[in-house]
Amino acid sequence: MTLRTPWPTCTTCQAIPLAFFQNGVINKPHQLWLTFSAFAGSASRGCHTCTLLYEAVREPFKHRLDDEPVHLERATVNSDGTQAVALTVDLASLPNRGTWDESLWKRSDGQQLSFQFVPIADFKYVRDVRDVPQGARAFKGLVSLYAEDDGTFTYIKQSLTNCLANHKTCNRVIFPLSGTASQQDTTVNIVHGNHGPVVAPTRLVYVGSEDSKDPPKLVDGQECLFNGGHLVLSYCWGMTPKDAPWQLTMMTMQQFSTEIPLSNLPQTLHDAIIWTRKLGERYIWIDSMCILQDSKEDWQREASRMASIYGSATMTLVAASSSVYGGMSDRRNPLRNSAASLFLQDGSSKFTIYLLPNGQPRNAPPPPPTDSRGWCYQEDLLSSRLVKVTQKSVLWQCVGDGSNPATRAQGLEQLSKHPPYRWYTLWYRLIERYSNKSLTYPKDRLLAFHGIACDKAGSAYLAGFLKSDPWASLLWCRDENQIRQRPGRRYEEYVAPTWSWASIDAPVLFYEANARHWRKPQLDPSAMDPELRHAEVQSVSFFDTGAVKGGSIEISAYVAITRTASVQPFLFNTRQGAHTYGRRNCVDPLTGEALGLIVFDIALEAKDDMMLCCALLQTADMGLWEKNGTAGLGLALSVQEATSKHLKCTRVGYVQFTSAFGALCHRRCIELS
Ligand SMILES: [Zn+2]
Ligand SMILES: [Zn+2]
Repeated sequence: MTLRTPWPTCTTCQAIPLAFFQNGVINKPHQLWLTFSAFAGSASRGCHTCTLLYEAVREPFKHRLDDEPVHLERATVNSDGTQAVALTVDLASLPNRGTWDESLWKRSDGQQLSFQFVPIADFKYVRDVRDVPQGARAFKGLVSLYAEDDGTFTYIKQSLTNCLANHKTCNRVIFPLSGTASQQDTTVNIVHGNHGPVVAPTRLVYVGSEDSKDPPKLVDGQECLFNGGHLVLSYCWGMTPKDAPWQLTMMTMQQFSTEIPLSNLPQTLHDAIIWTRKLGERYIWIDSMCILQDSKEDWQREASRMASIYGSATMTLVAASSSVYGGMSDRRNPLRNSAASLFLQDGSSKFTIYLLPNGQPRNAPPPPPTDSRGWCYQEDLLSSRLVKVTQKSVLWQCVGDGSNPATRAQGLEQLSKHPPYRWYTLWYRLIERYSNKSLTYPKDRLLAFHGIACDKAGSAYLAGFLKSDPWASLLWCRDENQIRQRPGRRYEEYVAPTWSWASIDAPVLFYEANARHWRKPQLDPSAMDPELRHAEVQSVSFFDTGAVKGGSIEISAYVAITRTASVQPFLFNTRQGAHTYGRRNCVDPLTGEALGLIVFDIALEAKDDMMLCCALLQTADMGLWEKNGTAGLGLALSVQEATSKHLKCTRVGYVQFTSAFGALCHRRCIELS
């Protein structure tokens, strides 16, 4: 008999070698995560094992270990022979070593564990399912009804009534569907409401009532037009298993239109439906339940409407402090209280081990403010009314709410004055999500974003490049967290110029676009800023579908010819033992001085002794400078042809520069294709 948790396990945890848990095998520390922040990220995305481990990390460590590799070590606790594992870090290399609390180095019960490194959390584990305590088996019981204070809902309802009656600026659709998207899409549901065009989503979740005869179900979005509009849920997807029963697919469609079983939903989605009911509303739009997750066409069409769906919603509920598993208002993930089953396999031998939830501090101090994870919630920008739900509070924010001038009202005022700039953040976010999905639909990456991009950017949108936001749209980077599963590959046929994220099959992240969401919007201009001279693409067909057969960008930027070298010395807090897979330093070819770290777009293309042209596209903000010494961001380019006038190049990677780069570089004109 085995006990399988219904929650996902990340590939990193699945890859823990079987031998690690076997008696008699030499106990070698297993490097679980390259950095603590990657580990924390996996926990927030919902990996059960990572969550269990993360929630048990002692509080003082949580905020100081961003770049430390995290190891798993096994030990036998002397007294009763129980097996235990510890999550460890090597503190010897940490700065300010003297400030660590000495007491953390020893277990409180005085037993010595044979750990090489300093444990930051430890666990018992068992291999026999009968040894899993009853209390830790409560997988089904994880989804619980909150006994929310009725005052919360009264507050939200009153705020809405007041807003509808008194705020002129709130009562309009911020981003009505317009331009090419509506012309091309004949099935779009637009009606003219009192305040301009209102867009009904294609589908909505009807939330039903507590009566079992009136269950939640999926309905035609038009229903809401005559029944008081719809809400939207904004949340972090987290790690979602492929066949998650709460996702809308061809398979679940039939079932969803009869009934969406509440008990199948992860906590956040479950709560959102209950909250919608309690607010007296009937419909809510939740992306994973209203967009067919296994239909390319559906995904493309709905993505192109997303801005309007948010823009015309009555209000957006923001689950601001957790992933899809955490619930609307509980920051601490309920998964921490149940045993995590790890199914491990090595050739023909396989077994399940159970990590038990022991040792976690029950009185941990509150987590840092959720806005540090603001990149999760860029959709918020598109909504005129937000209900922000954090662990501690529920906050109403709307454009016309003068009581809160410093924050959202101001942001949205700006937004309505400069729509394209802020609007792009949603677009980048969508690409990040979509690039994760690209295994399913590898070839149509540009098409998916054509509608939504053209709607706002018009002709300035060129194969993934936004002429009006050039540097952020070029400064994408392969997502290194997924390097093992998705090291990146180029397509056999031509899809896009190399400067476009669409040219490679790999998940990408827009660091620059994400960063400016929370720092001040624009960096001060610098003499070293690049200039965009020209940009063009050749379309495949007469119809503007977004597909291209060629394209080039001409820029003037500070560049230096560099040589690649194995990451030695390690730059930017990557230390001895850090992976070199897909990365190289770029160094001064004459002196060998390190100028930057290149993350190659395709991991296998990273080699030593390549001569590459590195171009500075952005001087880094002070935050990045203080954090790890990054002085600038740019691209690594392979020079195809050099003339006195310019360098013809193709893109091979993303670069973080050290300040040494500044002394060597000079301005050149580059043609990128
Ligand atoms: Zn994990
Ligand atoms: Zn308002």
